[in-house]
Amino acid sequence: MYDVAVIGGGIVGLATGRELLSRRPGLRLLLLEKEETLAAHQSSRNSGVIHSGIYYRPGSLRARLCREGGVALREYCDTHAIAWRRTGKLIVAVEEPELPELDALYARGTDNGIAGLEILDGAAIREHEPHCAALKAIFVPETAVVDYAQVAGSFAREIASVGGEIVTSAAIVGARRTTDALILQTVAQEYETTRVVACAGLGADGIARILGGSLYPRVEPVRGEYLLLKPERRSLVNGCIYPVPNPKLPFLGAHVTPRIDGSVWLGPSDAAQSDILSAVQRYVPELRAEDTLSGPFGIRAEGVDEHGGFIGDFVIESGDRVVQVRSAPSPAATSCIAIARHVAELMSS
Ligand SMILES: Cc1cc2nc3c(=O)[nH]c(=O)nc-3n(C[C@H](O)[C@H](O)[C@H](O)COP(=O)(O)OP(=O)(O)OC[C@H]3O[C@@H](n4cnc5c(N)ncnc54)[C@H](O)[C@@H]3O)c2cc1C
Repeated sequence: MYDVAVIGGGIVGLATGRELLSRRPGLRLLLLEKEETLAAHQSSRNSGVIHSGIYYRPGSLRARLCREGGVALREYCDTHAIAWRRTGKLIVAVEEPELPELDALYARGTDNGIAGLEILDGAAIREHEPHCAALKAIFVPETAVVDYAQVAGSFAREIASVGGEIVTSAAIVGARRTTDALILQTVAQEYETTRVVACAGLGADGIARILGGSLYPRVEPVRGEYLLLKPERRSLVNGCIYPVPNPKLPFLGAHVTPRIDGSVWLGPSDAAQSDILSAVQRYVPELRAEDTLSGPFGIRAEGVDEHGGFIGDFVIESGDRVVQVRSAPSPAATSCIAIARHVAELMSS
């Protein structure tokens, strides 16, 4: 019999397992992951950016947990010898109609308490990014990069080191309740637990049907492809460069990200935009198809409401013996430690 079973071995489930164990040493904690390896989905297939929190509606869960999570994550990396790097970021407006949205974003960032934001014009933009052409930009000095697979691996080692049990190749396919417990079923085995936390990413819908939860949000998979810059062309960029996002979509637009390993990724594509190259050429006009190689892809788990609209926030549902992370899109990797703390608070309230 376990005290808590966490479903999902992505960065959110692992951060949550670690947080619960650190709050209650000796807790009998089990983490069940359907794949053979941990963090095989979104948590190792993303842009690797530690977001500042500029984009999110003030007062939303994403605005708060991204700010808190970014600080906690950098501290965690420092204390666990995980490399991260402050790259800074430019959010660029290339055409006149984008300027009001850029100004709105700056105001939102200020409301969200993001430190050090600056508005730059063309000449100042080129001081940061000599190959970038834009009318106006916001400079976000806090933005950083990290390898989230490494962070997830470190969380897993910590869980195991204090007696938490991690089982891979263990997809939850069913559950039933007894008077004082839940029985989770995999094809191979059953596990009895007092409480459950579900952090199943793209599988959140399926788990909600198994555990009982509200019908919405539903999870919409949105594939994102990346291109890589050839090593000899990496000098085209210094830090992260993002376009002004389309306010109607939850995606940030195809961006340029220097990774912690020195590679440079372009993308990801999103539901509205498949040609990464032309999207980035708008603000890095020297970029040519022959400068790029095909890259990896990731599949985002985006929460959708009953009208088919993107929710654009984290949704965490708390019920009888069960807490379910129903929607944890970007920046949930940045926010993972803060999400874990939030879940732990829900469980103790
Ligand atoms: C292309 C892309 C770019 C992104 N860029 C960034 C970024 O730069 N910065 C940022 O902060 N965020 C970014 N994100 C978002 C971030 O990666 C995710 O929000 C975060 O990884 C979500 O973590 P998770 O643990 O909830 O999900 P996941 O990593 O998807 O983990 C969920 C886990 O649950 C398991 N699971 C599912 N069903 C079951 C079941 N029935 N039984 C057992 N286990 C199950 C899955 O196998 C999986 O391992 C990006 C995402 C994508 C896809």
